[in-house]
Amino acid sequence: MARIVQKYGGTSVADLAKIHNVAERIIRTYQAGNEVAVVLSAMAGETDRLIAMANAATADRPTPREYDVLISTGEQVTVSLMAMVLNSKGFPAKSALGSQVKIITDKNHMAARIRKIDADFIVRELEKHRIMVIAGFQGVDRKGNITTLGRGGSDTSAVAIAAAIRADYCETFTDVDGVYTTDPNVYEKARKLKKISYDEMLELAGAGAKVLHQRAVELAKLYNVPLYVRSSFNNDEGTLVTREDEEMEKEVVSGITYDRNQAKVSVIHVPDKPGIAARLFTPLAERDIIVDMIIQNASIEGYTDLTFTIPKKDIKEVEELLETVAKEVNAERFIIDPDISKVSMVGLGMRSHSGVATKMFDTLAKEGINIQMISTSEIKISCVIESKYTELAVRVLHDAFQLEMEG
Ligand code: ASP
Ligand code: MG
Repeated sequence: MARIVQKYGGTSVADLAKIHNVAERIIRTYQAGNEVAVVLSAMAGETDRLIAMANAATADRPTPREYDVLISTGEQVTVSLMAMVLNSKGFPAKSALGSQVKIITDKNHMAARIRKIDADFIVRELEKHRIMVIAGFQGVDRKGNITTLGRGGSDTSAVAIAAAIRADYCETFTDVDGVYTTDPNVYEKARKLKKISYDEMLELAGAGAKVLHQRAVELAKLYNVPLYVRSSFNNDEGTLVTREDEEMEKEVVSGITYDRNQAKVSVIHVPDKPGIAARLFTPLAERDIIVDMIIQNASIEGYTDLTFTIPKKDIKEVEELLETVAKEVNAERFIIDPDISKVSMVGLGMRSHSGVATKMFDTLAKEGINIQMISTSEIKISCVIESKYTELAVRVLHDAFQLEMEG
């Protein structure tokens, strides 16, 4: 017997037929003698629909508190339906919202962080042999206001619940059956990984891979929750995200991912003196605009250029901010280029193998792909390139590092 958290994403509960399918899988797990806590997303497209409605209802930005009350409703629909279906099939199931499980978060609406979960409540129900069906993506702050965890946040709900109730593992069911060496939609030679380390998964999620919410992987690592990525449409084994082992360290490159949601901002001809970067980036940080890569050119005669990337969705806001900030720092002008993408390679083995970067640059150069920006971490190298070369870059790198082959 094990205690298991199963999380099903929006595509897995997109309609009643799929909810019935998922119910059967939950029942199989339960009948095998396990304790099962289920975490659900809203039906595919539902959160988008609610967000569009909120935006259409108001001339400016909807108030964050009410926005969260609205966009958290999609999960209330799926958990109640799932519990009903399980009940009608003769199984004892109970739905629960974030407020009922007491998923306590901070009060940062739309991007709340989980602070505490009432594990006893869930555990008591599981011990009574009930299947708990819990709404993902939502919580409440200390005053009882409904909060949401950010898009894709139900992965995070699931891992946090798994950690709180000391589950043996957490399974996330989505429409892909695991973590691949790269996006199979971009390259048919992509190979499914049996295992990947938390750190690699973190870097991949941070670099644009959409299989898992980054915060979910952070929590899994922190609490050492084994995390399976599986498909709800087949019975394949999926990928295990877990602690690193020696085998993984031998892998120089484990995966290649890309991010088309970034834009490049260049602030041209700014005085090269103390305080300029702070004055440029502080207003961005104050508005929670995430600046990813930053490059400062060598200074010429006391002037330099600063280039950085921002999420595409923030272009308008950054443009407005820079209209004033660029003047304040005496920059000549600024340019925003949305036509870029970031291609990243991740692997634990990079720690001990030099030459990965050179091989990446060579491979891109041979295809005539110009590298506009580079950034590296211990286990990741990212290059910003012109957007139209994204697929080509992914494919040639996948070939060059022979990722289609195991081990
Ligand atoms: N329903 C929410 C969203 O679409 C949460 C999730 O799917 O994980 O972002
Ligand atoms: Mg989702």
